This record gives sequence, C-alpha cells and structure tokens, in this order.
Amino acid sequence: MEISLKQASELLERAANIVLTAHIYPDGDSLGSMLALFHSLRAAGKDVTMLLDDDVPKLYQYLPGQEKIVRPRSGLNADLLVVLDASDEERIGAVKTAVFAPILNLDHHLSNTRFADYWYVDAEAAATGEIIFKLLGLMNGKITREIAVCLYTAIATDCGFFRYANTSAATMRYAAELIECGVQPHVIAEHLDTRPLANIILLTKALATLQLYEAGRIATITLSAEMGQITSDNTEGFINYPRNIEGVEIAVLFKVVDTNTVRVSLRSRNVDVSRLALAFGGGGHARAAGCTLNGTLEDAKTKIIGAAVARLKESPV
Ligand code: 5GP
Ligand code: MN
Ligand code: MN
Repeated sequence: MEISLKQASELLERAANIVLTAHIYPDGDSLGSMLALFHSLRAAGKDVTMLLDDDVPKLYQYLPGQEKIVRPRSGLNADLLVVLDASDEERIGAVKTAVFAPILNLDHHLSNTRFADYWYVDAEAAATGEIIFKLLGLMNGKITREIAVCLYTAIATDCGFFRYANTSAATMRYAAELIECGVQPHVIAEHLDTRPLANIILLTKALATLQLYEAGRIATITLSAEMGQITSDNTEGFINYPRNIEGVEIAVLFKVVDTNTVRVSLRSRNVDVSRLALAFGGGGHARAAGCTLNGTLEDAKTKIIGAAVARLKESPV
C-alpha cells in the first residue's frame, strides 16, 4: 500500500522493535540512510537492529555506527522491517527470508517494483537520504552531528557531489542544513577520495580494457579477479572514466564476480538505462542503473552491448 511520509513516521512511532536493512553492493546512500535512521530511532528509545547481506566497504567505515551493522540471521521477529534505497526484494539478499515483519520501503528509484507492504517512493528525491531527512523532521528527531554525517554522505554521493541531473535546490538546502548540524564537507570528501595504491593500480588495469562500440557511443571497461581485489573496495568511480569520454552515450562496467556471475553497472548521458537494467532483472535510475547476470563475461557482453545498441537505435540522441 502506498503511504505518505507522515504515515511512514506513524508506523515507525508505533513500532517498538525495528529491523533496518538496505541494498547489497552498498553505497553511500544505502548505508548513510540506514545509519541516520538507526541513530534517530535509537535516540527515541526503540530496539533497532541493522542487517545487511554484504560487507560494509572500507571506504564507508568512517560512518558512525557502521560497526553495529550485522549479517542477517534467520528467524528474527520484529514489528517492522524498513527497507532503504532498494527498489526490489532481491536487492536485500537473505534479509528477505530472515525477518518476519511487515515491510516498509523508503526509496527513490524510478524502477521500484512496489514489493513492500507499505511503500513511499519519491523518484524526484536525489537520494533516499533526502527522504530520511524529511522523515526525521516529521518525527521531531534531533539531527545530531553523527546523523548529519550519515545524511550528508547519503545525499552527496548519490548526486555526485551536487553535479548530477538529480541535484535540486532542495538538495543544496539539505546539504546546507547538514553543514549547520556539524558536517565538514571537506572531511567527508577526503574520506571518500583517499584510496590505497592498489586501487589506483586496479584502475589502470580497468582502463586498459576500454572498448568502444557504435562509433564511440558505447564504451565498456571490465574488472576481473586476476586484476586484484575487485569486490570489496571502491571501484564505484571507475565507470565515470568511460562515461566522461566525449561522444559516449552509454558506459558499461563489467565486473566478473565469479565464474558464473557478472555485475553490470550502466551510466548514460541521456538515454534511460534503468529500462535496460530492468530487462535483465536489475534496475536503477535513468542515468545510473545496474544488474547482475548469470553466465560468463562473454555472455554478459553480448547481451548487454546488444541491448545497449538497440536502446541507442530506439532513441537516437
Ligand atoms: P551501481 O552501478 O552504482 O551499482 O548502481 C547504479 C544504480 O542502479 C544505483 O542506484 C543502484 O541502486 C541501482 N542498481 C544497481 N544494480 C541494481 C540491481 O541489480 N537491481 C536494482 N533494482 N537496482 C540496481
Ligand atoms: Mn543506492
Ligand atoms: Mn540511492
């Protein structure tokens, strides 16, 4: 059932025992939104557990409270399961079957499948963090410095530090208010920009795989295990290199997770790549989407590049 944010706040106020979760392959928005809500609900005296069917990447381990995030264990009863920044049930992995509770989904993905018992989806919001910011206002929760750090991370990372098309005047106002609550933007940028040497070496290897198709309108790069540690750390920004090449409309990052699994990240300048991702069981936003394919890298390349070529033919830009 679709609900208003006010109704979402009432559901949270009525619940005593709350489980929070967010999408796997976590990012700044999923983690920051979950942690901000965690701190606020704890301050209101609730019993709150954070479950995530994935590791917290090192990059985000500066977020206050992240050490309290645990892997799902089966058979947990709660009054409410809050699913953050996830547009379908698959995105929360094993949490889906581990918790017995009505589901409240707070999200901003265009591709949201309305899978929850209660959902509030605002596709205009640049980040789920913006929704949480408004929700805390409705719940009269105080925005402490630690909550502000979590929300600023959520919002800033999902709008590319106020550069993507989803950045609105409201986005900037939220950021300003969070700075007034004690956030230091340069400290957060420093956390997110600093990387181990191995990560830069990995980037050089990824860039060496660059391939162009359709007269340079599609660009791809590939990451695989023999190049180094590809799963846990900070390869998020790699796709911006092919995306930023002049003339590229669709950029694709193929990440070979294991012999039968390929993670695909999609970025575009204009065409709606969330539709492309949806066709392969994934989802996302118009200009940033992703999916996971079973099969070899070659299979994944054939399927995704074929679909990308078809998308370009449908909407020449
Ligand atoms: P990324 O390429 O950074 O992993 O993801 C880009 C965007 O697409 C994010 O907003 C992310 O939430 C969404 N996304 C990525 N992979 C999937 C997926 O497998 N399923 C769904 N529903 N959304 C995805
Ligand atoms: Mn996300
Ligand atoms: Mn998000």
